[in-house]
Amino acid sequence: MKAVVYQGKGRLLFEDRPMPRIQDPKDAIIRVTLTTICSSDIHIKRGAVPRAVPGTILGHEFVGVVEQTGEGVRRFFPGDRVAVNVETFCGECFFCRRGYVNNCTDPDGGWALGCRIDGGQAEYVRVPFADNGLTLIPDSVSDEAALFTGDLLSTGFWGASLAEIKPQDTVAVIGAGPAGLCTMMCAALYGPKQIIAVDTADDRLNLALRHKLADTAVNPLHQDTVREVLRLTQGRGADAVLEAAGGRDTFQTAWQIARPNAVVCVIAMYEESQILPLPDMYGKNLIFKTGGVDASSCGKIMELIAAGRLDARCLITHRTSFGHIMEAYDVFENRRDHVIKYAIRVSE
Ligand SMILES: [Zn+2]
Ligand SMILES: [Zn+2]
Repeated sequence: MKAVVYQGKGRLLFEDRPMPRIQDPKDAIIRVTLTTICSSDIHIKRGAVPRAVPGTILGHEFVGVVEQTGEGVRRFFPGDRVAVNVETFCGECFFCRRGYVNNCTDPDGGWALGCRIDGGQAEYVRVPFADNGLTLIPDSVSDEAALFTGDLLSTGFWGASLAEIKPQDTVAVIGAGPAGLCTMMCAALYGPKQIIAVDTADDRLNLALRHKLADTAVNPLHQDTVREVLRLTQGRGADAVLEAAGGRDTFQTAWQIARPNAVVCVIAMYEESQILPLPDMYGKNLIFKTGGVDASSCGKIMELIAAGRLDARCLITHRTSFGHIMEAYDVFENRRDHVIKYAIRVSE
């Protein structure tokens, strides 16, 4: 079968790989139908993810059909359409029992797919702990509508839940890329008064406004972000800030636009260390929450998609077939042609 393989820093190859096989009773083999490229794949390609193992098939955001299940899989059967969770997790360890599945202590636990074990930019993939990591897609939900359940929507849903958003709050989301847009969608579930999108790309801000994911857009290239957010909040600052950009100075923006006692939620993945200037923020009494998604809410997300309350299809700006995935990588990595996300058809 064909697959995209990480060969080491700077190198990806589209090559032939053997079909995956069941290795553990809790495994399932999934025939991938629709897959996509994530910014994390680009981070891996650039060598910025130390735990990524060369020789691994990339891809951690995809949907497919169950092809085969191990003897220990109870909830899924061949033929089921499923969304696959970015994280595989045992469900039994200290962290899993508390919902912190990103830190599952099993060797195959946490973000393993497409990083440490073969992922879903392939025709077939082995998913460990299938009962925990798969989500059934209802007939009424298309592959495209379900595609972002396991990673981007999980990230947005998790970030919004960490941010302790209350009705009538002002939520600022830094970054109007895929993760930022999904974060805005999920923040809206809490009924905030307004969502402010901050990004340096006008096309992305326009997309956020056009799809009503944000009420106001601020572009730091044209505006003073801090002054603008203060103006929009009677001089207080945002009640909750979600930093989903991971840019050179976006962490500084995040705490600067937060009001005193706000929650600043850092869900971005940085390629460089950041500075926490405690003297400058003394007395602001901020609450920082950081990290990588605990993708343990896929069932709830799928319910919200089926009910029409979460719809991330507007992120799909580009479509292609699996044979063209390396061209898609080039467009995505270099942010050409106003790309937000690709939907890449692997099989019908
Ligand atoms: Zn991702
Ligand atoms: Zn676990």
